[in-house]
Amino acid sequence: MRVEVGGVPYEVVIGLEVHAQLATRTKLFCGCPTEYGAAPNTQICPVCLGLPGALPVPNARALELAARAGFALGCDVRPRSVFARKSYFYPDLAKGYQISQLDEPLNLGGEVRFSVESGSGLREERRVRLTRIHVEEDAAKSTHAGGRTVVDFNRAGTPLIEIVSEPELRSGAEAEAYLKALREVLMFAGVNDGNLEQGSFRCDANVSIRPEGQEAFGTRVELKNLNSFRFVRLAIEGEARRQALLLESGEAVRQETRGWDEGRQSTYPLRSKEEAEDYRYFPDPDLPPVVFDEATLAAYRGATPELATARRARWQAELGLTEYDAGVLTGHPEVASYFEQVASGLASRATLGLAVAGKKAANFVQAEILGYVEAAGLEATFPAPAAEIAALLALVEAGTINGKIAKEVFATMRANGEGAEVIVAREGLAQVTDSGAIEAVVDEVLAASAAQVAQYRAGKTAVIGYFVGQVMKATKGRASPAEVQAALRRKLD
Ligand code: ADP
Ligand code: MG
Ligand code: ZN
Repeated sequence: MRVEVGGVPYEVVIGLEVHAQLATRTKLFCGCPTEYGAAPNTQICPVCLGLPGALPVPNARALELAARAGFALGCDVRPRSVFARKSYFYPDLAKGYQISQLDEPLNLGGEVRFSVESGSGLREERRVRLTRIHVEEDAAKSTHAGGRTVVDFNRAGTPLIEIVSEPELRSGAEAEAYLKALREVLMFAGVNDGNLEQGSFRCDANVSIRPEGQEAFGTRVELKNLNSFRFVRLAIEGEARRQALLLESGEAVRQETRGWDEGRQSTYPLRSKEEAEDYRYFPDPDLPPVVFDEATLAAYRGATPELATARRARWQAELGLTEYDAGVLTGHPEVASYFEQVASGLASRATLGLAVAGKKAANFVQAEILGYVEAAGLEATFPAPAAEIAALLALVEAGTINGKIAKEVFATMRANGEGAEVIVAREGLAQVTDSGAIEAVVDEVLAASAAQVAQYRAGKTAVIGYFVGQVMKATKGRASPAEVQAALRRKLD
């Protein structure tokens, strides 16, 4: 994105800070649950309330997830990192300080890869480097209403990672694409549930502008509380335009924190950041350094699941899926693994090549399954187990049932949870392939359709479709369509 100041083109410079909640059941330094939506101040204890004398105990699972995020994003995951106290006074911080990391964060470097539509309509591959990823606890949630501020401490002490990018993004659209790619990596790594509405994936955007070609950065404004991808894009674009107008009128950009007003489609000041905040950071004396030995780090590195980008590329190469299909099937990590189970289950049951099975599984999952999937965070529920869908598709493959019957069987599977084979056997749905039985039905149909037979013989061979329909109706869809066609031709021609 470009803006102009006095006819001179200016470049927009953006660096993002993302707070992602680590998908643990309990908080970072105590055993209180992290579950969302409980009544205010019911998930608290002396540790997360910061009562005097309470001692924090690090949550090993949270540190593991933070390290795994580092590996998934190509960071240098440090064998030693240090928790520090960041002091400030605000009602959402009972202790008077937040436990975070400063000089020795867990993860250094790394990158987020994404593609974005460039001006010419082509997709451009981008890599944006990360500065660092550190571990910290969340603050409480304060709500201002009716001239009062009320505080819910359930969120206090929730484990977070803060992912800080280099100022390498250049437009609102790039920032949006970066965030979507980052969220996908974290979800596929099982680190974060990606829920923007519940605040488990939050973004602050730092925005400045500078004349194109100039190396020095302009003064940055930090945009906070951007709780949707669209708002991030719009707020960045609006803020860049605001800064250009300020410079145009001879004023300077003030370093400050601003929010996004959706109604007025503009940013507004939250607080000035002119006096450099003094957080009086120092290593937390209650917490020893976080130390991972080599074997532990190797285990975490090895536990990184195949990420969405890699799966899409592999499915396109090995299964011949289209880019679109691969994209839909990686919409959620559980959908991706469900699809893979259906494909491999079908391949082994029906002794099909993986590419053929993959294509059939992809079609069925997209057309019949996705509409019933309910995803909540990292979890998803499916209308039937993947193995049963593989069994159903294998029945079609073997010619035991046709595609139309398969849909009926699937409806029964959804309704009562039975397996495909059980339903087909009990309801006698197996396709009639016995040519004698089919011929008998064909004879009946032809005998009852003298007018159509005459039409056919007069050259209107298209009426064969009518006969097929009648035979299917008489057999409740169970006749093999190929056998019916063959029998009709034998009788009519
Ligand atoms: P703080 O912790 O006060 O927000 P940091 O130095 O950690 O400050 O920077 C935070 C973010 O701001 C990083 O993502 C960085 O890329 C971005 N950033 C720094 N300078 C600029 C700038 N001039 N324009 C846009 N983004 C910037
Ligand atoms: Mg910041
Ligand atoms: Zn607690």
